Amino acid sequence: MKALSVHLTDVCNSKCNFCIVDSPHMSADTIVRARVSRFLRENAGQGYEAVNLHGGEATIRKDFLEILDEIKELGYPTVYLQTNGRKLALMKFAEEVVARNVTLFIVSMHGATAQTQDRISLARGSFDQAVKGIRNIKLLGQKVRTNSVVSKDNYTEMPDIVDLCVTHGADHINISALHTSGTALRNFWDVTPRYDEIQPYVLEAVDRAVARNTTVTLEGFPYCSVPGYERYMIDWETNQFKMLYRTFVLDDYEHYMDAFTRVKDARCRGCAHNAKCGGVYKEYAELVGWDEFQPVVTVPDGEQTCA
Ligand code: SF4
Repeated sequence: MKALSVHLTDVCNSKCNFCIVDSPHMSADTIVRARVSRFLRENAGQGYEAVNLHGGEATIRKDFLEILDEIKELGYPTVYLQTNGRKLALMKFAEEVVARNVTLFIVSMHGATAQTQDRISLARGSFDQAVKGIRNIKLLGQKVRTNSVVSKDNYTEMPDIVDLCVTHGADHINISALHTSGTALRNFWDVTPRYDEIQPYVLEAVDRAVARNTTVTLEGFPYCSVPGYERYMIDWETNQFKMLYRTFVLDDYEHYMDAFTRVKDARCRGCAHNAKCGGVYKEYAELVGWDEFQPVVTVPDGEQTCA
């Protein structure tokens, strides 16, 4: 898929303790509408299949619906919206968004209970609103992909989060490794679990989705941290995202992520996954180290094992 990706706002109506944008510490938005409009105009008619909107929380912009109108007028086939889902709890608002050609809603679900999700988001009611938002979108006939970031607060709940999301109609479950930047970096030791600690829960979560015939993907994990489940890693080679992030344009988002946010170790050179794996988030590698990551070698019969 060839898509545009637009960071629409720095600010948010939640304050997640692992926010990579650092929205909880942003007092004012730096995103200028004219820059967004120029980016959309410059790229119109060039074969982009979708515009992916994210923030902060894109839906809280006062001109959010106007921006959706603009995208539609410029002829982009569809819009994907990354959201915490809170505003979608209002059916009237959900209807307005769906009417403007948003066909995929990527909703954050970080807890299996209100207690967990509201503690992570520091926003009472955020869990109930997100669940209601998902249900509204499904009632309106559109697709929902949930995204759950694995943190110290929720990793034991991952299988239950999957059950919850599938029960409420999610079409696709995405489970993300915690990206240790922004607020997540400020709170590093409070929010960041070890990969070997979360592994059984993440793998069980994948099994639960598969057992319920629901598409599931893993994002941002070093391949060696999900042994036997590498096939669920998002394949970015089939996706090409050109992103507007504040004032700069990233022509290839995944190349940027690999080149600037993740690192590899000497051990990766001999690893069977080296070509596809993006490595480990660099702050994690610096602060926690490499002892839990073991290169994978391919043995003659094609099976893979730790070196
Ligand atoms: S050893 Fe390195 S290349 Fe291999 S899966 Fe782990 S992080 Fe990726």
